[in-house]
Amino acid sequence: MARNPATAKPPSQPAGRMTVRHYCQGIGDCHLLSFPKVGGGLFWMLIDCGVHSSVTGGTAKIAAIVQDIATQTKHIDVLVLTHEHTDHVSGFLTAADQFKSFSVDAVWLAWTENPADPQAKQLDKYKNDAVTALQAASQRLSAAAAPSDYITALHQGLDAVIGFSFGATGSKVRAARDAGIGLARGNIHYLEPTDPPMIRDDLGLRIYVLGPPRDAKLLGLTERASEMFGAQVATSPRSRALAVACAVSAAQTEIVDTGAPFDTYVGTPLDAVARAVGPEAAALASFVQDNYSGPAKPPARPNPSRKNLAPTTQPDRDQSWRRIDQDWLGISADLAMQLDSKTNNTSLVLAFEFIDTGRVLLFAADAQIGNWLSWQDRSWQVGDAQVTGPDLLARTVYYKVGHHGSHNATPLAKGLGQMHQTDLSAFVPTNALDAQKVGWGQMPYTAILKALATQCSGRVIRADSPWITGTGPGPEFQAPSGSIKSLSFAQNLWVELQLA
Ligand SMILES: [Zn+2]
Repeated sequence: MARNPATAKPPSQPAGRMTVRHYCQGIGDCHLLSFPKVGGGLFWMLIDCGVHSSVTGGTAKIAAIVQDIATQTKHIDVLVLTHEHTDHVSGFLTAADQFKSFSVDAVWLAWTENPADPQAKQLDKYKNDAVTALQAASQRLSAAAAPSDYITALHQGLDAVIGFSFGATGSKVRAARDAGIGLARGNIHYLEPTDPPMIRDDLGLRIYVLGPPRDAKLLGLTERASEMFGAQVATSPRSRALAVACAVSAAQTEIVDTGAPFDTYVGTPLDAVARAVGPEAAALASFVQDNYSGPAKPPARPNPSRKNLAPTTQPDRDQSWRRIDQDWLGISADLAMQLDSKTNNTSLVLAFEFIDTGRVLLFAADAQIGNWLSWQDRSWQVGDAQVTGPDLLARTVYYKVGHHGSHNATPLAKGLGQMHQTDLSAFVPTNALDAQKVGWGQMPYTAILKALATQCSGRVIRADSPWITGTGPGPEFQAPSGSIKSLSFAQNLWVELQLA
């Protein structure tokens, strides 16, 4: 593994109060934190260990990561599982054998993962219903005869989301999460945003739980135009309701279209026309294909005896565009996005505050707008003082960027706008090329990257920064500077920072 000697030099400023090794697996989170203990030794915390199922070679990458963790420590004081998504927990399943040699004292999860919590149970039911509906929609799309480009793309997108919930090898993301939980042998802590801060005098640290919120409206709020960097809010409650209704009805064997102009016994389904046999049926199928459903037939071979007649079907006669029989399933894409975003919003968000300096390190997991907005009303009694959510944001000097830098996971005013520290530095756990493959659009989101770069004076590190992937020079900033007291990295595997 190549280290960068230019940036790995000993810090001239005081040594870091916390070391974080961010693993660079592309789309996925795995962060190994260590805090020096008063009296010697280190306190180890592992936040997540996963990679998105569509990242090529992801399982091997996770194996390399767990092997590397073992070179640092085989004892984890606290394992944090931020939320139930493959790119945060897959490693506990795929590298289960490697994790067997670790000892884990405790696991921290959000209240949303507590099987005994009534509100968490409701969320779980929504999730299960939605996944079932999406699978049904996917099956219907598989059965579509001669699907249009739109339907093909929709089908691929839908399967990507379902794969995200169920993992590349068909194993459920829940099994991966539970494998992580199992490492702590029953010492499980479900954390609430109303909990008092955990005070660790031996580490000189206070740890605050910022989210996920109990407020159902905020928990369900994944986008708000006024808090987003130029992005449009894509969905409405009505389209969501329709999505559920349509996708759930897709699970039925026969769909009753109450908006159809004729009774169901009148007419023939398009797929049945295509499947019919016999000369009459073939003529009808050909007529329907030419005039209603497409696709275009290949141009007829020229027949010398019919010189003056054009081929019966021209390429420009493709009538696929007329078809709407499967288009209603398009609404399932909306449901899929909602399912994904809502699970992100159940992220356990932690803020680490150094007791003596008041400086804060924020680990936002994949929290979306509603999770962030709930911090505005948080307050904790600390001694004689009240500490508030905005107060913690104002003192943040290090930010693990939310949801891989997506458009709706770093709010404009009530997020970055409240981080005022000139020492601010940030890490984005994303590989933009992998994000394109997943079809998540622009991730990391350019407008957020620009705002971060300005506010962090360039101290924004990405999992795919050219100097980490070995494809270019850098980093562009000096270390030590800002909250980064020293920096080292292993090409394509990790970047390690000492922070203070
Ligand atoms: Zn994620």
